[in-house]
Amino acid sequence: MTAQLAPTETEAAPFATKLLIGNRWVSSESGESFATVNPTTGEEICQVAAADASDVENAVQAAREAFEHGLWRKMHASERGQLLYRLADHIEKNADALARLESLDNGKPVSVAKRVDVAKAVACYRYFAGWADKVQGKTIPIDGDFFCYTRHEPIGVVGQIIPWNYPMLMQAWKLAPALATGNTVVMKPAEQTPLSALRIGELIVEAGFPEGVVNLLPGFGPTAGAAIARHMDVDKVAFTGSTEVGRFILEAAAKSNLKRVTLELGGKSPNIIFHDTDLDEAVEGAHLGIFSNQGQICCAGSRVFVEENIYDQFVEKSVARARKRVVGDPFDLKTEQGPQVDQAQFDKVMGYIESGQSEGATLACGGKRVGDRGYFIAPTVFADVRDDMKIAREEIFGPVMSVIPFKNLEEVITRANRTIYGLAAGVWTRDIKKAHAIANGIRAGTVWVNCYNILDTRAPFGGFKQSGSGRELGEYGLQEYSEVKTVIIRL
Ligand code: ADP
Repeated sequence: MTAQLAPTETEAAPFATKLLIGNRWVSSESGESFATVNPTTGEEICQVAAADASDVENAVQAAREAFEHGLWRKMHASERGQLLYRLADHIEKNADALARLESLDNGKPVSVAKRVDVAKAVACYRYFAGWADKVQGKTIPIDGDFFCYTRHEPIGVVGQIIPWNYPMLMQAWKLAPALATGNTVVMKPAEQTPLSALRIGELIVEAGFPEGVVNLLPGFGPTAGAAIARHMDVDKVAFTGSTEVGRFILEAAAKSNLKRVTLELGGKSPNIIFHDTDLDEAVEGAHLGIFSNQGQICCAGSRVFVEENIYDQFVEKSVARARKRVVGDPFDLKTEQGPQVDQAQFDKVMGYIESGQSEGATLACGGKRVGDRGYFIAPTVFADVRDDMKIAREEIFGPVMSVIPFKNLEEVITRANRTIYGLAAGVWTRDIKKAHAIANGIRAGTVWVNCYNILDTRAPFGGFKQSGSGRELGEYGLQEYSEVKTVIIRL
């Protein structure tokens, strides 16, 4: 470990391991807790209070009270913005410690945690802080002698359920627009990675957010998560995670109070490489497109379609690059890839690697565990992958690249679209016509041309088809957190 970047003792057993309800840290009513595990070693970091339905009830009450009667509702929009700016400043001041905590709990390289997770979370809070006093309606010239205008009002109490792959960043994507628009929040971080969300909770209190505005409930999906999704007094739920759980959330909303639902779900994104590209750039782009964040990215370019006439060359170069990828201690600054987040994800990814081999794909490199403890998997490249193989159809969420040959533009558009998902896509070409044909032809929420995984707090992100509904980030993301009210006044 690099001494300067190793977590300190207090970070390894952080103070905030309880539930945050009404700006107070409380144990769960049941007294239950769960272990959060360091994926580098497989050892417990600390115990964290486990919320269930009765804690959700308390948190929703606190959020409702804050929404209806608290300071929050009376606060000027610009003051909400100032609080978000202050939170961003607090995060920035604690950037190194937060990056270490994220790395400890999630396993991602600490350099990435700082450059991506922390930096982008700060940018996200600042971007939406700027929006807080710019959420405005319209005046509408309706027929008759009337004055008609719209108000964009907060939705109310918002439930937010987030995943473990970018814990702090997903928290920012959800909290920032919800708070900018004046909602109150009950959030459940993922059970694999609760620590950074809780530390941010401390900074939220320090920044001066009134009590009950942000409530944090670490705990499990089927207990705490499901209780949020079906709660009659939660007005909206925003979820990021698997398509399977997204379906439960929608069902729970339908069966309870028809709360608004936004979902950011799985993907099986095509990354399409034409021969008329800079091959080395495309190899690196495809490499980072799938292997970044240990392959644990919903928009990962997991189906790499390569034009036939450069297929062999592409596989050879991609294998060479994957073999060079530095896998190991997340606290070593040279490390490019840490462990998968937990044993369950490790087992799932290894299961897909086995299935690729048994269905006849060529294992060109990787396919094995790295080391003898923790959840490390060697960067894995499969060649000769067919569209009907499981590894080409299902989301693996791990460091596994499938390289699939194609012949021409029309064919690759049809095949790339033959999936239940539609989160993202990439294309590598120097031909502007092909780039536009792919950008227009692929049914996905984001298309990257000669780049991949470029996410920015100002640009909307979300899925077509079973990759979700609604958008996060940017002005589109903001709209998902307000109700439009029409006011008509007789003149
Ligand atoms: P993954 O399979 O990658 O862990 P999940 O979709 O299971 O993704 O998890 C994403 C988030 O959804 C986590 O916070 C998890 O606890 C939560 N979750 C899981 N199951 C449910 C459920 N039945 N209801 C509500 N939330 C859930």
